[in-house]
Amino acid sequence: MSSHDADGLQRWERLLDKLPVAAYTCDPDGLIIYFNEHALRLWGRAPKLRDVSERFCGSFRLFATDGTPIGHDECWMALALRHRKEYLGSEVIVQQPEGARRAVLAHANPVFDDDGKLLGAINILVDITDHKRSDEALKEADRRKDEFLAVLSHELRNPLAPLRNGLQVLRRAGGNAAIIEQTREMMDRQLGHMIRLIDDLLDLNRITRNRLELRKQTIQLSDVIQSAMEAARPAIDDTAQQLTVSVPAEPIHLYGDLTRLAQVLCNLLTNSAKYTPPGGIIALRADLRGSEVALTVKDNGIGIPPADLPRIFEMFSKVHRTMEQTGSGLGIGLALVRGLVEMHAGTVQAQSDGPGKGSVFTVRLPVVSSAGTAMPQPAATDSASSLKSAVRRRILVVDDSWDAANSLAMLLELGGNEVRTAYDGVEAIEAAESFRPDVILMDVGMPKLNGLDAARRIRNLPWSDKVLLIALTGWGQDENRRRSRAAGFDYHLTKPVNPQELEALLGSPRPLPVQG
Ligand code: ADP
Repeated sequence: MSSHDADGLQRWERLLDKLPVAAYTCDPDGLIIYFNEHALRLWGRAPKLRDVSERFCGSFRLFATDGTPIGHDECWMALALRHRKEYLGSEVIVQQPEGARRAVLAHANPVFDDDGKLLGAINILVDITDHKRSDEALKEADRRKDEFLAVLSHELRNPLAPLRNGLQVLRRAGGNAAIIEQTREMMDRQLGHMIRLIDDLLDLNRITRNRLELRKQTIQLSDVIQSAMEAARPAIDDTAQQLTVSVPAEPIHLYGDLTRLAQVLCNLLTNSAKYTPPGGIIALRADLRGSEVALTVKDNGIGIPPADLPRIFEMFSKVHRTMEQTGSGLGIGLALVRGLVEMHAGTVQAQSDGPGKGSVFTVRLPVVSSAGTAMPQPAATDSASSLKSAVRRRILVVDDSWDAANSLAMLLELGGNEVRTAYDGVEAIEAAESFRPDVILMDVGMPKLNGLDAARRIRNLPWSDKVLLIALTGWGQDENRRRSRAAGFDYHLTKPVNPQELEALLGSPRPLPVQG
C-alpha cells in the first residue's frame, strides 16, 4: 500500500475521532489502521494495528442476530472490501473478551480515490443494545397491559353472572326463606368481590400518580393484624386453610394508616389462601428486630419459580398463568402492597424455594420507639346503632340515578325510617323545604343543580343547622372530599356505600363544622 493510499483514509480520522459512535478503518487488505475511543469501548479490547492476525474487525467474537458465529473474514467490513460496495445498517452481535454482548448496526463503506482505486473502508458501528432493551421492555409492558385488560374484563364479568342469576332466583323464590337467605349471601359476596377489585384499581392508580393520602397516626400492630385477619378470614375459610398467628406479647406501635396497613397484610393473606391448595397452612408472624418489625406471611402452597421473584411486585404481573393455577386476580395486589409499604418507609420481599415449595412474604416496618405518647383512638363507630335503630329518622335521598336513589330509599325504609327521594339538585331543595329531613344523603354530580350547589343552598336555609348532610358519590379523591366539606356536607361517602358505615353515620350527631 502506498503512503498516498493511507493518507487517503487518514483524512477521515479527525472526523471519526469526534463521532459519538464506534468507527474504524481498514486498508484494502483488511488490516486495521485506525479505531476511535468508542470502538475500543465497544470491543472491550484494543486490536493491534496493521497486524495480519487482526483483520477486518477488532471485536473478540462476532455473531449473527440468531446467535450463529460469523468469522471476521465474513464480517460487513470484509464484505465491503471484497465486493467493493456498501453494507449499511446490518445488525450484528459483538462479544467482548469477558463475555458481554452488544447489539450493533454496522455501516461498512468502501473508500475510493478520484481514479476509482480502492483505498480501504470505514466501518461505523452504532450500539443499539440499550435501545433494544427498552424496546423489549415496552413491548413486554404493552403485552402485560393487553393481558391485564383481558383479565380485567373477565374478572369484572365474573361476579356479574351470579349476581344476575341471584336476581332471578329471588324473583322466583316465592316465600322460601332459606333460598332467599342463601342467595342474598351469595350476592353480597360477589358484590364485595367486585367492589374490592375496583377499589384496588383506584388505589393503585392513586399511588402511581402520587395522589394517595395516608391518614397516619400512632397505631397498635395488634389492631392492624386483627383488622387484616377479619378481612382475609372468608378467603381462608373458603379454602379450608389453617391460619396460625404468632405475635410478640408486648404492644408494638407503628406510625401509619391502620386501614392501609391492614390492607397490605390482608392482600398477602388472601394471596396465600389463593395460591395454596385446600387444607394448606398459612402462618402470620410478627418479630420485633431492633427498630423495626418484620411481618411474615408464609404458606405451603404452589410457590414461585425463582426467575419470577424479581418481577412479582410489578403491576399486572401474574406468574401462574395456566387455567388451573391462575385463580382470580388482576396481578395488582402485590404492586399495591409494595406501594403502600413504601409509603410507610418500609420494604417488602418475596421468597420461595420454587414451585410446590410455598412462599414467604416479609414486610419490614419502622416501629415507634416510645409508646408513652397519647394514642389517638380511631373514631369510634357505634355499630349498635343501625338502620333498624329505634329512632325513626326523616331521610331525604337524592340521586339522579333513579335505581340508586330508590334502592337506597327502600333499604332505609326497611330500617324503619321515613324516606323521601329527589332526582336532581333543584328537586332536592324543594323536597328539603317541605319534608324538613334529619338527614340528607345526596349525590354530587347531578343535572340542573349539582349536589355541591344544592348543599350550599340548603345550608343557607334557616332551619338546616341540625341537618346531617352526607355526600354520596363515585368521586373519592381528597380534593373531592375537600370540596364537599366546603359546600357544607358533614361527611363524604363513596359509592357503593358500605351499609355498616352508613348505619354508624346515621346514628351519630352532626359533627362540629370543620374549617376548610
Ligand atoms: P393476583 O391478583 O394475580 O393474585 P398479585 O399482584 O397479588 O396478583 O400477585 C402477583 C402474582 O404473584 C400472582 O398472580 C401469583 O402468580 C404470584 N403470587 C402472589 N402471592 C403468591 C403466593 N402466596 N404463592 C404463590 N404465588 C403467589
